[in-house]
Amino acid sequence: MRTAVVVGAGMSGLAAAGALSRAGWHVTVLERSERVAPPPTAVVLWPNGQRALAALDPDGGWSAIASPLPDGGVRRPDGQWLVAPRARAGTGPAPAAVHLEDLYDALIAGLGDRVEIRTGFDVTTVLTGPARRPAAGDGTTLIEADLLVGADGIDSRVRATLAPESIAQGAGLAAWQAVIPAFRVPDLPTRSVPRATPGPRRGAGDVVPGSRRGAGDVVPGSRRGAGDVVPGSRRGAGDVVPGSRRGADDVVSGPRRGADFAAVAPRAGWGGAFSGSRSGSVARSGAESGAGFVGGETLGSGYRFVAVPLGEHAAGRGGVYWVATAAGAPRPESPDTQLALLRRWFAGWHEPVGALLAATRPEDLVPQGVRELRPLPRAYGYRSGPGGVVLIGDAAHAMPHHLGQGACLAFEDAATLRTLMADIPAGDGLGEAVETYSRLRRPRTTTVVRENRRMSAVVQARGRLALRARDAALSHMRPRFLGRTLDPVTDWAPPE
Ligand SMILES: Cc1cc2nc3c(=O)[nH]c(=O)nc-3n(C[C@H](O)[C@H](O)[C@H](O)COP(=O)(O)OP(=O)(O)OC[C@H]3O[C@@H](n4cnc5c(N)ncnc54)[C@H](O)[C@@H]3O)c2cc1C
Repeated sequence: MRTAVVVGAGMSGLAAAGALSRAGWHVTVLERSERVAPPPTAVVLWPNGQRALAALDPDGGWSAIASPLPDGGVRRPDGQWLVAPRARAGTGPAPAAVHLEDLYDALIAGLGDRVEIRTGFDVTTVLTGPARRPAAGDGTTLIEADLLVGADGIDSRVRATLAPESIAQGAGLAAWQAVIPAFRVPDLPTRSVPRATPGPRRGAGDVVPGSRRGAGDVVPGSRRGAGDVVPGSRRGAGDVVPGSRRGADDVVSGPRRGADFAAVAPRAGWGGAFSGSRSGSVARSGAESGAGFVGGETLGSGYRFVAVPLGEHAAGRGGVYWVATAAGAPRPESPDTQLALLRRWFAGWHEPVGALLAATRPEDLVPQGVRELRPLPRAYGYRSGPGGVVLIGDAAHAMPHHLGQGACLAFEDAATLRTLMADIPAGDGLGEAVETYSRLRRPRTTTVVRENRRMSAVVQARGRLALRARDAALSHMRPRFLGRTLDPVTDWAPPE
């Protein structure tokens, strides 16, 4: 029987272990944590990720825990629609959200009895070479196999050995995620909100008359007190932005200014990376529904807030998942202070942003700096004697979450491995299979990384001109473009 060692028991490692086990392999998973445990967050599964999961799990267990997204749309902080919710023109199933605890349970249930998981095993040594099978060790024990799968995330030890040219770098953003459990989800208002209309526009993040913001509150993008540190920036501390209303000591952050959004957004046909396409089973949404419905995203000046209902499936945990993003480095403060900062930055944004942040507890918060691999590894598959090594998931192609594709691509990687590793011919078959894996996956992920970078200009826009250009580009998109945006990304099917 063929043997594999999978380094890392995150989503990609568990998916790959299940895939190889189903293909008849004996698999050892090495995980450095003491237990296999997901972060208390959720992910959105796009059609490509769903197709990959369907290939990995023909019984469809995962689908019982996923909630189709409501038609979300994209709004400005004052609630005005930039892209109103509407049925998506694209093909494929609606994107769906799933709690990671549910997803991990499903992946673990799919492992079968040919998978052994060894926790508390921190891989420090990776051995490969033209005359030896690959092996991974922790300094005490070395485990050799026909195939070594590097599923050890963005700081991958396996990748550092085989593709040291690929470095994890900060993307100039920090993210905060949380799931508010169903019993704590606030009762949300359902008043109407205006659609995107031509006419005078406020800058995203401007003070909205009649909003609940109190005098002296700080609005993202508005005048800050001298010495305030604005989350993030590639500028040096103390930089002053000419023409801005900031105090001289402010540290201003800065995703690209003046990006050509008219070129970016319509070309991509973007309808909001997290906008759903069709009403889901839990949708409290739709174009006519109110400011408080949960679903869709809001773009401010260097800030973004996405909220997704997790539904109330019998098998799922329910609740609401949200992700907030701000330009800048990760914050060093305690969770309590970070939550207080988030409430301050997003004060005055349309509901349900404030209500969701108010319902969030510090222990719900998962803060992190957003990083990416630059450049991508030159290959995702390497021969090693009669065996081989492959890189999957964030170890291979970590990228910012603008398009919500990291986990989806990890499932694509695993589904591709399953096909390629099912019937390996004797002789040089495994070496050829790892090279084929690389040939299939490298161009595919390059495309997604390119679309993701394009999206970062939209998501990270700051500065009056850049915001105007972005808002105009988004609100003038024609319906036929909507939802097609992501087609190059989401139109993927497992190899035969
Ligand atoms: C804010 C945010 C929102 C996101 N939203 C989405 C979304 O909506 N949809 C989507 O598809 N993706 C999304 N993603 C991306 C997705 O979360 C990641 O792509 C995915 O978690 C990567 O999984 P992984 O298993 O490859 O890596 P990881 O989750 O990092 O797992 C790696 C595992 O390897 C272990 N490990 C590491 N080093 C070693 C070692 N030396 N020895 C042994 N074990 C080791 C770790 O302990 C860990 O268990 C989002 C990401 C962020 C930051």
